[in-house]
Formats: sequence, C-alpha cells, structure tokens
Amino acid sequence: MWIVASDIDGTLTGDRDSLNRLASRLRGLREAGELLLIYSTGRRLEQVIAGVAEEGLPEPDAVLCQVGTEIYVSPLTEHAQPMAVWREKLLAEYSRQEAVSFLKGIEGLVMQPSEFNTELKTSCFLDGCPKPDDAADEIRRRIELYTDRYQVVWSSGRDLDILPASSGKGKAIRFLVERQGLAPDRVVVAGDTGNDATMFVEFLKGVVVANARRELLEFADSLAGGDVYIARKPYAAGVEEGLEYFGVFNSSAS
Ligand SMILES: [Mg+2]
Repeated sequence: MWIVASDIDGTLTGDRDSLNRLASRLRGLREAGELLLIYSTGRRLEQVIAGVAEEGLPEPDAVLCQVGTEIYVSPLTEHAQPMAVWREKLLAEYSRQEAVSFLKGIEGLVMQPSEFNTELKTSCFLDGCPKPDDAADEIRRRIELYTDRYQVVWSSGRDLDILPASSGKGKAIRFLVERQGLAPDRVVVAGDTGNDATMFVEFLKGVVVANARRELLEFADSLAGGDVYIARKPYAAGVEEGLEYFGVFNSSAS
C-alpha cells in the first residue's frame, strides 16, 4: 500500500490531458487496494468535491483542507464535518483574535475572503504591499515569541497564512497516517509552492513538479536526508514521473 499525498492546484491541475492519464492510473491502483490518495490543499472541501466532479481529479480517500487545518475522510460530501479530534487539538493552541492582531498596520495587506478565514486559519494577501517579502518577514518577526502556538506559511509571493503551530499540510498528513496505522515510509508527497514545503519536511519521499515556484525548489534543495525528485515535466505529468521514480506504479506491492 502506497500513500500519495498531493497538493491540487498547480500540481495536479494545469494540464487536463496529463491529469486524465495520471488519474486513470491512480484509480486503477486505488481499486486494487494498493493506494490511499490524500489531497492536501488550500481549497475548501466543496471546491475539492467540485474538482472531482468537473476537473478530472481522481476520487480521494481523505482531504486536508485550508492548508492542513481541516481533515476530512470519506465519505466526502458537502456536509462532511472536519475530524473533531484534529480540530480540538488545534483550537487548544490557537486564538484567531490573537492571530489577526499580528497583521495590524501592515501597509497594503488585504485580508483573504471570509471563506478562507476560519477559526483555525488567518489568511491575507501581501501582493499589494510595497515589498511583499519584507511584509512577510515583519509578520514572522511579530510571531517569533509565539511559535509554540502559531506558524506563518508564506506562499506564491501572495498568500500568507497564520496557522496553529501543530497544523500545516505535513503535520496533518502525519497525524492521519499514524492514526490509520500506515507506514510513513510509504508516503510520497507532491507539490508546487511554499505551502507544500512542510510535507517535504515530514516525509522523505517527495515530488516537485517542473512548474514549481522557486521558493519550493530552493527549499527542496536545502533539505538533507530526504529523497526529493525534481520532475522534468510540469503538473500531473511531473507527478506521474515522480511516482514512477518511487515505484508507486509497480503492481502488487507486498
Ligand atoms: Mg499548489
């Protein structure tokens, strides 16, 4: 059994033909009981469900939404509730009011729409700031004394999230994998931007698609000890290339 934990936007999506090809191979593995498919995304659950219906995404077994602050397991319906034990663990360390206070007075900062701001995720856009990277650094500096409870995720030169310290894509996947009694060394992660970086920290096997943002490529380069595959192809074709590299498609895994 392999566990593939992939970002969606810019990693699986971007080229429909290559997604269709990858999706059919993943469906085959899943139906053979050889694959657990997890999406790890900034999307909300209903956007993931719409993606399965309309964008050709293969049906997943679990979805980690809102950058790993919500975990959903099948059956995945629009009325599904996030896993309570994960939510309660994160609520114990996180105060949205305090998180918002770290963003005060940053010139040019714009809050993201309310559906991307939740009790466990405080998210803004910094691309309207005079110097977005400096603004992100300033927010990190403000949180420095509180990193036992908060973390900053800076992605795509635009999106900044303040999340509970125990959350994020990588830690959410680890929580789910351990809870289901699965082997962490059978996990392969895939991503394209900075908010995927925590997955590469938590797991040794990872695929960076060719269209990845430099922030993730540089981060992947800096990792020691892991086995990060930088694909030659973009989007789903790159994910497919990486999964081949790790042997995920070799049938009848023991
Ligand atoms: Mg992405």
